[in-house]
Amino acid sequence: MKESIQDSIQSTINELYQKYLPCLEGYTANYIPELAHADPHEFAIAIAMVDGSVFHIGSELKNFTLQSVSKPFVYGLALEAFGRPYMLSKVGVEPTGDAFNSIIELEKQSHRPYNPMINSGAIAVSSMIKGKNTAERLDPILKLFENYVGHSVNIDDNVFQSEKKTAHRNRAIANLLKHFQIIDGDIEESLDLYFKQCSLLVNTLDLSFLAATLANGGIQPKTKKKVLNPESARDMLSLMFSCGMYDSAGEWAYSVGLPAKSGVSGGLIAVVPGKMGIAVYSPLIDERGHSVRGVKVLKELAHRYDLSVFSNSH
Ligand code: GLN
Repeated sequence: MKESIQDSIQSTINELYQKYLPCLEGYTANYIPELAHADPHEFAIAIAMVDGSVFHIGSELKNFTLQSVSKPFVYGLALEAFGRPYMLSKVGVEPTGDAFNSIIELEKQSHRPYNPMINSGAIAVSSMIKGKNTAERLDPILKLFENYVGHSVNIDDNVFQSEKKTAHRNRAIANLLKHFQIIDGDIEESLDLYFKQCSLLVNTLDLSFLAATLANGGIQPKTKKKVLNPESARDMLSLMFSCGMYDSAGEWAYSVGLPAKSGVSGGLIAVVPGKMGIAVYSPLIDERGHSVRGVKVLKELAHRYDLSVFSNSH
């Protein structure tokens, strides 16, 4: 039997929080040295409904960096600026079945990255945001996230520097993209922009509003501000559904059935279109880069409330 969400959601997330708090499976991301220092005991769940109400438990105000959760949102920014045909000429919309940081994810003929949720696609998308220098290029990205979360946002410079210093793999990807003329201009500048969007500081409540704005067709549920067009929100959700969880996108679609996006710092969002945005933060990740507790909580919530977009019960 499907439970009524609003009535029981707070007690459900309290219960799931207690259940998974002792779970210390996984590891903190260590290929970005600064992320390895995260406290494995941090854990938060937040749910923002499209009417603006929020339910949360744990360290929901603890800041962490956005990492790959930024990818669909910057894609949305570029999509609104350049339109579908241009976006499709540079980045595809096909899932890969491979890891997020694969260096071979370029299509045979076009050399486009397969999709904007993997690093190659996201670096290509960031490179489209132009300006005189990195600061000018970062500005629309900061404004975008401020609109989504409803307050000003900052970059974690330590995480930015840490990733910049160790990003040999992403640098290889960017060089390949430049070789195939998918990106133009200065490679380091585009990488800096990408690392900065990944180093944006947010908390779990912020994540829930990122997700809830998409659930609400682009209107931020609390500020009521229009952040993006409903068509763009829809396109982002399609990409999150097919590609957001990388090489476990199929398993995720089967077990959770919601558009979602994970980041290696431990953030995870899922969107129930027309209803709510769900966010979990826990820095212990699995081998695919998804928060271990996040995946467990989402699977259980989806099952308990029959949240799959393919369910006929809502
Ligand atoms: N900044 C990270 C990287 O490029 C983001 C990866 C992720 O969160 N999956 O490797």
